[in-house]
Amino acid sequence: MNRESKRWKPSPLLSASALVHAGAAAGAVASPQSWPWILGVVAANHLVLQGVGLWPRSKLLGPNWTSLPPDAAVRGAVAVTIDDGPDPELTPRILDLLDEHAVKATFFCVGERVAQHPEVAREAVRRGHAIENHTQRHLAQFSVLGPRAIADEIGRAQDVIETVTSERPCFFRAPAGLRNPFLDPVLARLDLKLTSWTRRGFDTLNRRADTVLRALTRGLRGGDILLMHDGRAGRTPSGSPVILEVLPKLLASLASAGLTAVTLRSTLPTSTSASHVLASTHE
Ligand SMILES: [Zn+2]
Repeated sequence: MNRESKRWKPSPLLSASALVHAGAAAGAVASPQSWPWILGVVAANHLVLQGVGLWPRSKLLGPNWTSLPPDAAVRGAVAVTIDDGPDPELTPRILDLLDEHAVKATFFCVGERVAQHPEVAREAVRRGHAIENHTQRHLAQFSVLGPRAIADEIGRAQDVIETVTSERPCFFRAPAGLRNPFLDPVLARLDLKLTSWTRRGFDTLNRRADTVLRALTRGLRGGDILLMHDGRAGRTPSGSPVILEVLPKLLASLASAGLTAVTLRSTLPTSTSASHVLASTHE
């Protein structure tokens, strides 16, 4: 295991925030009558941190994959990522569609759904796809949890996914992409890479498959990370899951643009991805 990657280094924004807090404490001691100003500065700092946490593609709270590494982008690799499953009805149909187009995808799965449908998760891995960590329960309030609860949500999903599939996740995506400053040290400790996306079509909310497809393919290029959902999938007006309408056209667009869909983990340096497989086979 690469120990280097587990050592957490705060981002410049978090270091600056620590300085603001230290400065505020020193200021309050040196000049107690300035407390309203000091309180204002600390409150403003908290607002900045909260605002940044609501911005899924921001890198100000720590590293965040918004696209694939440059060497993969140059090769014309893109990543199709599918969140919130596995779903016992939809995911098997998606696996068949991916097979028809010879495409490998990354599923950001919810731990408790993996535990409920282990055979679906195992089948995805058997067909060459990757399952990554999308927390244990996909809590709406994930971004306001404290450090212990965050570690618990991610650690439990990590264990469930590894037990079911024999592969330990290398990547993490926060529910709705929302997070707070406690997340980054937890990810560093678990050797997980935070991932957001380059493009998304809001396929859980948008019922029009053509609009979702356009959002995903506009300006599409090598290195893009695309986001869709197989859990809580949106439905078209005729009742069919939006992803089933969009995915075949999206995969055809990728092929005609000369782009190849690969798993996120296949773009990691080999030593890093191998360490996750080794971690699973040791136990
Ligand atoms: Zn989600």
